[in-house]
Amino acid sequence: MELNNKSLFRQECFVNGNWVKSHTEKTLDVNNPATQEIIGKVPNFTAQETKSVIENANTAFETWKNTTAKERSVILKKWCDLIIENVDDLAKIMTLEQGKPLAESKGEILMGASYIEFYAEEAKRVYGDVIPDPRPGKRIVIIKQPVGVVGAITPWNFPSSMITRKCAAALAVGCTTIVKPASQTPYSALAVAELANQAGFPKGVFNIITGSAKEIGKELTENPIVRKISFTGSTEVGKILLQQSASTVKKVSMELGGHAPFIVFDDADLDEAVLGAMQSKFRNSGQTCICSNRIFVHENIYDEFLKKFTDEVSKIKVGNGLESGIVSGPLIDKSSLEKVIDHVQDAVNTGAKIAIGGDIHSLGGNFYQPTVLSNVSTKAKITFEETFGPVAPLYKFSSDEEVIKLANDTPYGLASYFYSRDIGRIWNVAEALEYGIVSINNGLPTIAEVPFGGVKESGMGREGSRYGLDDYLTIKYISMGGI
Ligand code: NAP
Repeated sequence: MELNNKSLFRQECFVNGNWVKSHTEKTLDVNNPATQEIIGKVPNFTAQETKSVIENANTAFETWKNTTAKERSVILKKWCDLIIENVDDLAKIMTLEQGKPLAESKGEILMGASYIEFYAEEAKRVYGDVIPDPRPGKRIVIIKQPVGVVGAITPWNFPSSMITRKCAAALAVGCTTIVKPASQTPYSALAVAELANQAGFPKGVFNIITGSAKEIGKELTENPIVRKISFTGSTEVGKILLQQSASTVKKVSMELGGHAPFIVFDDADLDEAVLGAMQSKFRNSGQTCICSNRIFVHENIYDEFLKKFTDEVSKIKVGNGLESGIVSGPLIDKSSLEKVIDHVQDAVNTGAKIAIGGDIHSLGGNFYQPTVLSNVSTKAKITFEETFGPVAPLYKFSSDEEVIKLANDTPYGLASYFYSRDIGRIWNVAEALEYGIVSINNGLPTIAEVPFGGVKESGMGREGSRYGLDDYLTIKYISMGGI
């Protein structure tokens, strides 16, 4: 791999300030989803090794928690600057292991850096409270303190920004962190660890370990020293981690699956709605937790929207994300491809028409054609399950009540989108949608300044914004008498 800064490609874990292999010498292969070639190997850490990382992180916590917000902010800012300086190399590493086009990888790296910048500033604003005491001679003071050692488990679809989004908030308030990245995309994680090291975090404050998810995950969730688990990934794995964390009653944040509705009302600006649908559906080849998965279009504008949307989808250039002009890369692996094939087949079997795409791509491998399905049945699998691929199912609706009911008919509640120009409708629909995020006339709602997170089986806790700090803080009530 041609990198300007070769130190960014690391094949060891970053633990207690050192780069280390597993003592078992066991490794995991990492491959390029565009070519299936093996890029390299990373250590397969054991539960015993994880335990020792946790103990070191706890020792580091004793000092780190007592640093000033200003000191932590300076190191975070340095880390952010180093990430921005190395954006080209970091993007290359990401595209190689994850498949998304280079421009999208750069966007993710910069987005990841923006969380660090935000929390470097917000670190200074962890305010407490003084509550007027109704009792004479007494005072009530509230302070906020870091929760302790944090275990973070992150997914392959955003291999860098999901780490910085969690860790920047945790580190800003004085917690120490241990990250287990997805096994398919460890190199983006190890690269940001190299830059964290260069930024000057003391040893043991920021750690990255790779290996068996089950083994590492069990130790992180059941070890009583770890006081907080922050997870981004599937609802299925989130439920396992919640159960495991119950044994030591840990604080938890769960950013889980989504099944976003995207509603186009008949008063919408259609061109804007088409743009929003493109952005929210096809980014990362449809592999984001806030991808629109069900596109509901009012019957009065259905045909016009379908035509405009299909025209735009026909322009998507699919290929290896390292090549110029590519806007859609491969799916992450074979099983993801099989899920997409199954969802499309099932939709067609239950009455859907293929407006464009509908098949594996001529490039072969993990590539699938950007696809639009019209007249999809509400009984099709795709209506209930997250597809995680470049497939847009369209449904026709005739009233606000009907579409709100359809949109909420899912156990998920992460992101939702709708397009309208009517102020009354906008308030009513925004309040009626059972989602953590309601994005109105906007296909790209995620930035560092907002509280990102879901309701129902999409999880709990928020990342980003000042609310994101609360997930790594405990509230202490100090009662004072004798005054
Ligand atoms: P996943 O299978 O749940 O994996 C996510 C992470 O969990 C990986 O690091 C994985 O490690 C680890 N893991 C798997 N099984 C585990 C276990 N038993 N114990 C501990 N850790 C375990 O999810 P994914 O397929 O990578 O990601 C896609 C899902 O994430 C989608 O549902 C998507 O909606 C969701 N997501 C949500 C958000 C959000 O913010 N809400 C953001 C992005 C993605 P290995 O890789 O080693 O298996």
